[in-house]
Formats: sequence, C-alpha cells, structure tokens
Amino acid sequence: MTYRIEKVAVIGAGTMGGGIAAHLANAGIPVVLLDIPTPNLSDDEKSEPRARNRLVQGLYDRMVKARPANLAREDRADLITIGNTEDDFELVADVDWVVEAIIEKLDLKQALMARLETTCKPGTIVSSNTSGIPIHQISEGRSEAFKKHFLGTHFFNPPRYLKLLEVIPTPDTDQKVAEFMVEFGRDVLGKGVVICKDTPNFIANRFFSVVASYGMEYALEHGYTVPEIDAITGPVIGRPKSATFRLMDLVGLDVMQHVNSNLYGAVAEDVYREMLQPARLKTVMQKMIENEWLGNKSGQGFYKKTYVDGKREFWALNMETMDYEPAPKVRFESIGAVRKIEDLGERLRKLLTFEDRAANYVRNILYFGFAYASYVAPKVAYRLSDVDDAMRWGFGHEAGPFEMWDMLG
Ligand code: NAD
Repeated sequence: MTYRIEKVAVIGAGTMGGGIAAHLANAGIPVVLLDIPTPNLSDDEKSEPRARNRLVQGLYDRMVKARPANLAREDRADLITIGNTEDDFELVADVDWVVEAIIEKLDLKQALMARLETTCKPGTIVSSNTSGIPIHQISEGRSEAFKKHFLGTHFFNPPRYLKLLEVIPTPDTDQKVAEFMVEFGRDVLGKGVVICKDTPNFIANRFFSVVASYGMEYALEHGYTVPEIDAITGPVIGRPKSATFRLMDLVGLDVMQHVNSNLYGAVAEDVYREMLQPARLKTVMQKMIENEWLGNKSGQGFYKKTYVDGKREFWALNMETMDYEPAPKVRFESIGAVRKIEDLGERLRKLLTFEDRAANYVRNILYFGFAYASYVAPKVAYRLSDVDDAMRWGFGHEAGPFEMWDMLG
C-alpha cells in the first residue's frame, strides 16, 4: 500500500495540538482541529453550537495570535477547521492522518483510540504526540490493522521552529508506515526526523533530563551561582543563550519536575536514574514549586524581573538563601580567553586546558554527558548519530555528545 497525506485531524487543540495544526497548514495541508466541548455550560447553552465550541475557538484564537508566530502566513489559518469531539467527530472519517495531542492521560488516550478505530477509514495513520507514555500502551486493545498504522510522532515546542520530530514505531507498526512518516516529516514538514525505540521519553528528553539534573546538582554541590552556570553553559559551549537556568524558567519548573519524576518511575533499570532526583536540586525545586516560582509563566523562577530606580533588572535566585539578588556580569579567565574562537572544537579544546571554576564545570558536565550518552544510546536509539541529531534539532545544541567527544579526541 502506498500512503498519501492530503488531510489531517489534530485532536487536542492546546499548546502542541494548535502548533502542529498550524505547522501542517503552513505546508498547505487542510486540518481538522478538535478539542472537548466547552465544559460547564448552562442548560440553554448546551444545545448552542457556538457555545459548545467556545473552548476550541479560544484555543484556536490563541494559536493564531501567539508569538513567535505559529502561522507562516495569516491566511493559512483558513485551512484549519475547528470542532469538538462530541458533535464533530465524524470529520475524522476522511482524513489520512490523525495526530493525538490531548492531555497526558493514558486512559483518555486509549478511549480516544477506540473511537478512532471505529470512525476512521481503513489505512488511516494514527499517531500520538505523547512525551512520556509508552506508545504501545496507547494502542493496547486495538485491532492488528489499527496497530499497523499506529506510531508515535513527538514534536517539540513550538512545532514550527524546533526542527526535531521523533518518530516512534511500536513492534506492531508496519515498517512501510514508519518509513512513510519519516519521509513525510522530513520532506513535507521540513523536520529533522529521528527514529526512536519505544522507551520512556524517547531520545532527546531522556538524555536532556538526566544530564541537565546532573549539571544543576553539581552546581549546587560546588557552590556555583545561577548566573555563573548560565555564563558557562550557553554559546561558549555551543548551546543556546538560554543555557541552563534560563531554559528551566522557559520550560517551567513544574513541567520539568513532572517529567523527571515520571521518568524516574519509568526507568528503574537505568543505573543513572538517581541523577533525576538528586537531593540538593530536589529541595530547591520543591521550595520553588511551593512558592509558585515556576519560571516565566509565573513571573519568577531562577530569575525575576525587578525595577530598581525605574530601571528593569533581572535578579537571580541565590539557591542557598532562596532570595533574589542582583546578577552582575560573570567573568572567568578561561571563558574570556576562548569566547572569540569561532570553531566549537577548537574553543572546547582550549577551554579544557584551563583549571578555573568554569573549565572544571565544563569538564564535569561534558564527561558526564559522554558517559551517559554511551550508556543510554543503545537502549533508546538505533544509531549513535541519532542522539547527536536529537540534541541539535530538539535543544539547539551546536553539536551532540558524540560529536563533541570526537572534537575533543
Ligand atoms: P495542553 O494542556 O496545552 O493541551 C491539551 C488539550 O487536550 C487541552 O486543550 C484539552 O482540553 C484537550 N483534551 C483533553 N482531553 C481531551 C479529549 N479526551 N479529547 C480531546 N481533547 C482533549 O497540553 P500540551 O502541552 O499541548 O500537550 C499535549 C500532548 O503533547 C501531551 O501528550 C504532552 O505530553 C505532549 N507534548 C507536550 C509538549 C510541550 O512542550 N507542551 C511537547 C511535546 C509533547
């Protein structure tokens, strides 16, 4: 059987569903975008189609207005038809691909798959955008024919801008379906596609969670400050300016803690899993979550915007006292000496000839990353280069762990 995707349904119109729908529309593909009917309607409103679609309409409007823009051109929005999963579910009957992007609850995802099985035409490809639920569990109880066309397609937020698409076939997925989705993701959606084994959190988030927690715990144990770590772990080592703690604020502390504790429970056999909940970091994160210092979405996290004499300043959290303090510019001899070197490999080799706190930190996190990449790659990936691609495309790193290791020799 040859596959074509000319029309898609995205179910769940939240952050990811809206972004995925927009990205499909950017590629000129008509999309049906469904969410649940508006909850808690009055008896009069319950029979009112506009009221029933108020929730999905609000999510659609938010998707259209979001910045950076989800839509490449405003009129691409015309390709998206909205509806709700009770009144408009038959709209999925003639689509070629259904992307499930509803909340992260296994029973709800399974119930949706059962409905899709009876409504979609035979041969419809169905995928889940789950970050943390094993793909094969979502299609449990479905027919062999359904499972042949079912797989994971894990987009990164925002889908228009982050290049990585992780494609996760299960043992039951038809290989032709997986191959087709890889080509479609790459050639039509412009993604960098990595095929992952169906293991907890797949490749990019698994590697990132363990290595980032290690780095933050090491910082706490050795008395590095938040601005110091961000000065060390940004562009100078080939990573985005968001570095470590600014990235945490962007993702949200609650999300990060949820991901880490889920992953911790799911990878009992991983000899590095204690790194996901190390003592010092756990205490700091718990306190921050109790205080609702969740990051950008709650106005403060590891950083906080403050006004001093009417001038805007970003203060950083002192992780020992749990107070915010001015964040003066950080200087290290090693970083000063290498930051203008263009080539990443050359920059890292030179940086590691120093013995100051910055160089010691880089040495520690890079070597830990190499060790963990070596350990985890055979479990989660088919090729070592997939780990590198996942970190470059999913997290904007200039090079992945194995590439960096090669650079260091
Ligand atoms: P979200 O909370 O923003 O959106 C989820 C949407 O699903 C909500 O609008 C909700 O009303 C809707 N919904 C809930 N139950 C439903 C049902 N039974 N039928 C239809 N719609 C239903 O969540 P999100 O961040 O967009 O995450 C969606 C999925 O994508 C999750 O599985 C999540 O793990 C995954 N994911 C999230 C990110 C991210 O960065 N946010 C990245 C990759 C993957």
